[in-house]
Formats: sequence, structure tokens, C-alpha cells
Amino acid sequence: MPPLTPPADGSSPLLEAHGLERRFGNTRAVRGVDITVRGGELVAVFGPNGAGKTTLLRMLGGLVRPTSGRVAVKGRDLKSSDPEVRRPIGLLSHQSFLYDDLTAAENLAFTARIYGLAEPRGAALESLAAIGLEHKAHQPVRSLSRGMVQRVALARALLAEPEILLLDEPFTGLDAPAARHIQDVLTSRRSKGLGAVVVSHQFAEVWDIASHMMVMIEGAVIRRESPPPPLGSFLPEYESLLRE
Ligand code: ADP
Repeated sequence: MPPLTPPADGSSPLLEAHGLERRFGNTRAVRGVDITVRGGELVAVFGPNGAGKTTLLRMLGGLVRPTSGRVAVKGRDLKSSDPEVRRPIGLLSHQSFLYDDLTAAENLAFTARIYGLAEPRGAALESLAAIGLEHKAHQPVRSLSRGMVQRVALARALLAEPEILLLDEPFTGLDAPAARHIQDVLTSRRSKGLGAVVVSHQFAEVWDIASHMMVMIEGAVIRRESPPPPLGSFLPEYESLLRE
């Protein structure tokens, strides 16, 4: 199937979705959303509870089937049965996908084996170091704080250096130093030409590291801008968008 956007320079966007819709019964959770992510871009998706952000992210990650519309990963339709199409995607959703009884390092080494990485234990420890949790590597996940579990889950999503990282509320429950660590990881990924979509209802943590921002309300994108405008001037505008 041809890419949605014919590449001008021979390369397709990392991720591209067109006309994405998702209904749950009578609820139109996502209504006709387009999104494009190229190398080095971080698209921040904001909006109030129930705006459709999680549903959008899960469609981009192939976890929820769109009612209509298409998602292409590096020019290939995500609907394809070829598992290679999904391989460039790393996803952090609401579930951590971690085993409580295993240590952080054991969890990540287990995932690294599933990914077929050459040095599962080394990759696990490296990934934990990248998010600043190497000192917790050998503790069972059940003994970690909520914020730490969130960071181990992020380390899991980062394990195979995915070209496209999809994060759902990655800053929830994190203290300021932990949030900064994740901001640094995301900024460094941008400089390596990797792409990301970050869903959040918290502006401050994501604003300065985003290349693009979009706001969803009731399933639709009602505002997008690149680069994001100054946050101080945008917040009053956002408040009035919510009141409309
Ligand atoms: P957000 O992430 O912005 O809070 P969601 O994508 O979680 O929004 O939800 C958007 C709408 O879709 C909400 O009305 C929600 O109740 C509904 N919804 C989401 N998932 C389901 C589901 N699995 N079944 C039924 N309704 C759902």
C-alpha cells in the first residue's frame, strides 16, 4: 500500500495517521484526527479527561483498531499482519507490563529477550541507567514507589531504542528530578532523529521539549502549532477553549 504522503526526499514520515476515528457505541472518542511525526519531532497532545488522547495513542500503537482512517509506520500500513511493521514503535500506556515479583532488571532482561536483543541483561541495566534507576535494578518491582514503577515501565518502552515512542501521561506521579530525567531522555532522542508522541494533561513538563503541540477536545483536534507558542500566553487561551 502506498504511503499517505509521497516522500519528497525518499523517506516516509516515521508515523502518519489520516482521518482517524474511533467509536465506542454511541461515543465518538476520536473524530477525524490527522497526525504526522518525522524524525526529531516530539508531538505533544494535550486535552482534558475524556478528550480521546489515550484512544488516539492506542490507535497509533496498534492496540485499538480505528473505526475508520489509517495509520502508517514508516510508510507501511499498521493494519498489515507483518509484525515488522510495528517493530519501530515503543509504547508506554496505563499498564506497566511489569511482573511485581521480578526485579526491575529481571523484568527488562525478560523483555529484551522477547525483543531478541543480543545482551538482554546489559540492555536492561543500560536502559535503567538511562532513566536514573540503576540503584533500584535489583529490587522487586513490588517494592518500588509508584513513580519508580512508572520509570521502569518507561525504561521498558525504551529498551529497543524505538524510532517512535508513544507515551501516555509519562510524568504522572513523578517528582521534579525524575521528571527532568525523562525530559532529558526525550530531548536526547530528538537530537538523534527519533520521534515521539506524548499525551498529557500536564503542560509544564512537556511544553519546552515538544516540537509540535496539539489540543484535543471531545475527540477532535481544535488547535495545533509548531513550535508551541509561549506557555504563559497559551494557558489563558486553553482555559477559554475549555469553556466554549
Ligand atoms: P483521554 O485519554 O483524553 O482522557 P480517552 O481516550 O480515555 O480520553 O476516552 C475518550 C472517550 O472514549 C471517553 O468518553 C471514554 O469514556 C471513551 N472510551 C475510551 N475507551 C473506551 C472503551 N474501551 N469502551 C467504551 N468507551 C471508551
